[in-house]
Amino acid sequence: MIGTLDTRKKEVTIIGAGVSGLVAAYFLDQKSYEVTLIEALPQAGGMVRTVRTPYGISESAAHSIPGTTPVIELCDDLKVPLVSCLRDSRARYVWRKGMPKQIPLSLLEVTSTLWRLATTKKSEEPPSSLAEWGKRHMGQKALDYLLNPMVRGIYGCRPEDLLPKKPAASARGVKIVTPEKGMGALTSALESHLHQRLGVRFRRGEPIESLPKVQGNLILCTPPDISARLLSSSSSILAGKLSKVPFSPLISVTAFLPKQNVGFKSKGLGVLMPEVENRKCLGILFNSRSFVGRVTDPDRYESFTLMLGGTSDPGTLDLSQTELDNRVTSELQIVLGLQGDPAHLEYHRWRHAIPIYGRALQEASETAKETWCKSPGQILFGNFSGEVSIRGMIETFQKTKGYSP
Ligand SMILES: Cc1cc2nc3c(=O)[nH]c(=O)nc-3n(C[C@H](O)[C@H](O)[C@H](O)COP(=O)(O)OP(=O)(O)OC[C@H]3O[C@@H](n4cnc5c(N)ncnc54)[C@H](O)[C@@H]3O)c2cc1C
Repeated sequence: MIGTLDTRKKEVTIIGAGVSGLVAAYFLDQKSYEVTLIEALPQAGGMVRTVRTPYGISESAAHSIPGTTPVIELCDDLKVPLVSCLRDSRARYVWRKGMPKQIPLSLLEVTSTLWRLATTKKSEEPPSSLAEWGKRHMGQKALDYLLNPMVRGIYGCRPEDLLPKKPAASARGVKIVTPEKGMGALTSALESHLHQRLGVRFRRGEPIESLPKVQGNLILCTPPDISARLLSSSSSILAGKLSKVPFSPLISVTAFLPKQNVGFKSKGLGVLMPEVENRKCLGILFNSRSFVGRVTDPDRYESFTLMLGGTSDPGTLDLSQTELDNRVTSELQIVLGLQGDPAHLEYHRWRHAIPIYGRALQEASETAKETWCKSPGQILFGNFSGEVSIRGMIETFQKTKGYSP
């Protein structure tokens, strides 16, 4: 979150009902504010959507979240049943010399601890990028085969693109969870809850064209380019900075495969692809091997999600459908040993998938703090304001202060 709430003012207007706006509205309503939530589209949820296919579910963006206490409590309150990652599926793989190799979990944990330590050490000259930090503290091999695939698989960009920002508080040891019926079940439950709680103050199908004049707090939960447009007349410098925030472009494809045709049988969360291995995808999630309820007939089909594109291969988003189908099928055949074709491919294309925590975003955040967000009650919130993960969004608003006149 950039900015602070004015807790003496009861009214809060939130623009944008993606998961960030929904979560903000849910907690602020609970904390006695009078919330008005305005969404451009007839339906809330933003990027998060669960598509039902005859073979199973396909997530458009987020797949899962660490099941921290605030996440579990929110889902309990909304009566959204969660499923945990299957006990024997915690393994993560990295592609190396044409084979999936299991990454020892301890290595992942050491990396995040090192990252934390390095970014808090004041005495050292700060590295200019995460790649430089990786080279300094881990060496080239670990940069190539651990940091690079992790960053590409999670953010769709390279360690070279990122500032060595202190990572969010660790959710180490916490189980990964997902709603039984998909992430869309969480946003739908938030939407129905807010529909009941807010009534006419939940305004859907109303695109906001300029910054509204409001009585109390105003929270923009729109992507940075839209927030830039809304702020252009009241804070042109900030608008200019926000409009320059770069995003990684991604295609997420859910592949439903006939179970008997998949050669690679090991369980796990997924496989990450180091750039030096020159594969065409950034990583593959093993959906139905890590969570129940991902396929309609688990005896016959399996579900996987391939991530393609990213800052290292943005041209993927311009491929024709046939070229994409060929690329995805070939990756599945090489990486998972698929015989023949997939049963079904469900595509989600994002030109602006995930904000890149580089210099431009840092400058936009600093400018926001010094200008528009300096006044209490004027807030920017969303996947670019420090909380790219849905867990981070939930935890941020769960601990905000209640209305106190
Ligand atoms: C492929 C992929 C995989 C991901 N995986 C994960 C994951 O596993 N776990 C995780 O935690 N996160 C994941 N994420 C990130 C997560 O899905 C996003 O960060 C999150 O959904 C963004 O939510 P948001 O509310 O910030 O933005 P959005 O979803 O973009 O919501 C913005 C809302 O504002 C509305 N709006 C826009 N303009 C206006 C206007 N003028 N007036 C009114 N309303 C307006 C839009 O219609 C939209 O509803 C993933 C993302 C992608 C792309």
